[in-house]
Amino acid sequence: MRVVVVGAGVYGAAVGAALVRRGATVTVVDAGAPGAGTSGATFSWVNSRNKQPLVYHQLNVAGMAAHQRLAAEFPLGDWYFAGGGIEWGGDEAALRAKVDALLALGYDAKWLTPAETLDLEPGIDPDRLPPGGTAYFPGEAWVEPRRLIAHLLSRSIDVVAGDAVAGLDMSGDVVRAVRLESGRVLVADAVVNCAGPEAAGVAAMAGLALPMRNLPCVLVYTSPVAVPLSRVVHAPDVHLRPEGGGRILLHSSEVDRGGQEAVDKLVRDAASLYPGIRAATVESVRTGERPIPGDGLPVLGRVADVRNYFFAVSHSGVTLCLHAGELVADEVVGEDREDALAPFRFERFEESR
Ligand SMILES: Cc1cc2nc3c(=O)[nH]c(=O)nc-3n(C[C@H](O)[C@H](O)[C@H](O)COP(=O)(O)OP(=O)(O)OC[C@H]3O[C@@H](n4cnc5c(N)ncnc54)[C@H](O)[C@@H]3O)c2cc1C
Repeated sequence: MRVVVVGAGVYGAAVGAALVRRGATVTVVDAGAPGAGTSGATFSWVNSRNKQPLVYHQLNVAGMAAHQRLAAEFPLGDWYFAGGGIEWGGDEAALRAKVDALLALGYDAKWLTPAETLDLEPGIDPDRLPPGGTAYFPGEAWVEPRRLIAHLLSRSIDVVAGDAVAGLDMSGDVVRAVRLESGRVLVADAVVNCAGPEAAGVAAMAGLALPMRNLPCVLVYTSPVAVPLSRVVHAPDVHLRPEGGGRILLHSSEVDRGGQEAVDKLVRDAASLYPGIRAATVESVRTGERPIPGDGLPVLGRVADVRNYFFAVSHSGVTLCLHAGELVADEVVGEDREDALAPFRFERFEESR
């Protein structure tokens, strides 16, 4: 079975690898370089802390487990960083209620005293911690997406980079071939749309109207700095995690609105939380576009109107890609995964029109 996967972000790489394991011959096509889309500018926190409804929470929990399995399978892998996540800020009672609600769902969560928080994150200025303590979610992690993509694509996948998919040759309700901008034509028994923020354009090539409400977001990368930050931390004005090579990745909802002032404030807030960050400079500021289907939920699996066309598009794609990639690959090779994918079908948009 020849499958063309459109897009070499985390989704395209994960779907491609899952298809190869099922015996398919896979070509992953990307307009640019693998990992240069949203997957190259993401906070990439692997979690299910604020995911609703319940089916979406459960999908993310399964995504977390899939990452843990892959990391255990490749102990020398260099993409998965366990250590959990810490959060505080806002109304303590509301945060405690969130911890309780997640615990009731079986999600690993606990309350830490300030001293316990400092044991985990000794670089924090103790005066910045709330006396009531913080919430800790031990099962969470962060991922270096480009290393994950490199690993997944290294397994018997033909990668065509720097050549955009320009159109599909259809006969009736079946895609026969994928046409690239270069003029190259790839004969296909199935096509998977993993085009992230561009998914609507690639859906339109098959006559499918996929509503997207993508959201541009800003990330600030510091220079390498010797600060003991070991996990994902959500403090009131700043979200941060380690980034490769001793760098630190900073984000806040305010910085998404753009502007140098917001970047400067974010760095000041980060340095007041972790005083060691004062020694860092801003190495780069990148904008990533969150790929968000119209109702916020993933679009995964087969499509009723085009028999051999499949979707793997969502926000939280770093968390979801490995698990969702397996489910989508099952459907591509003919297995029905309605059990898991019913809430995430493309057709829900047509029904609501
Ligand atoms: C600031 C920010 C923070 C985020 N934080 C998190 C987080 O903490 N946890 C989490 O799980 N998720 C997070 N996300 C979301 C997550 O990063 C995305 O869901 C995920 O990276 C999407 O991966 P993808 O493979 O679908 O898309 P992409 O990585 O964008 O890959 C799609 C690829 O398709 C290619 N393409 C597009 N059109 C064509 C075409 N016509 N022909 C060929 N190729 C094409 C593009 O070049 C691109 O490389 C965040 C996103 C952002 C922007």
